[in-house]
Amino acid sequence: MALTERQKQTVLGALKERIRGGCPMCLQANWTIHNEVVSTMTASLGGDTTIGGGFVPMIQIICNNCGFVSHHAVGLLGISLNE
Ligand SMILES: [Zn+2]
Repeated sequence: MALTERQKQTVLGALKERIRGGCPMCLQANWTIHNEVVSTMTASLGGDTTIGGGFVPMIQIICNNCGFVSHHAVGLLGISLNE
């Protein structure tokens, strides 16, 4: 699901309020917000994955220097997926 411009601004504001410092890998503070909401697949301890299981909607921000990707739960950032 692509983010609207309003949602991207909400993400940006929430992250600026809650995150201090730069990238945990290279310490640079130059990020790009990925334009899509993403999720991870659930898996069993035996290694099987589940398609269609529960998921946590997440935003990705990507360090423009080293490529580190950080995931943040949409629900905790105050973003409604119904906007
Ligand atoms: Zn980095």
